[in-house]
Amino acid sequence: MKPFDDYPKGGYTILPKLRGGNARREYGYWLVENGQTSCVYCGTSLVDSYEHWLLLTASHVIPATEGRRLGIPKQWRESYSNIVLACFGCSGFSNRYEVSWQDPKYYWDETEFFELRDRVFEEKADLIEEARNSEMSFYNDRVAWRQGRDARYRRNAPGGLAWLSKGQTEA
Ligand SMILES: [Zn+2]
Repeated sequence: MKPFDDYPKGGYTILPKLRGGNARREYGYWLVENGQTSCVYCGTSLVDSYEHWLLLTASHVIPATEGRRLGIPKQWRESYSNIVLACFGCSGFSNRYEVSWQDPKYYWDETEFFELRDRVFEEKADLIEEARNSEMSFYNDRVAWRQGRDARYRRNAPGGLAWLSKGQTEA
């Protein structure tokens, strides 16, 4: 199940560029009104609470810089056929994504563009899942465990408290 399934023609047509400069109030909101309400990568709802709403981003599947480098027409890479809703976390995990396996081309046809977009989506989804799992381990080991157990944590912290700046140790 791809996010584009709900787009006009299954997302396999060059759609208009979404207008506005504000993700939550303009182009991202437009996607919400048209049925996308959660992060396409991790499934977190972006509308079920105000705190989640603040995490809403509208994200290029083929990143804008990569689209330029590869020679993809601007109208295509800025089309909302190439835009999905993502949470701030997943968006950040794919920030520096590069399409390593594709060289620039002078001519793209639409089929090639959509093949590229779908392959990039799959690859980013895998990378993001990996990054999320790694972040979750960090959280579980270092943050969640600490909740309500601060005193014990301080005594047993690996490497002691040397990594804290002076002044924070007595907090
Ligand atoms: Zn997410």
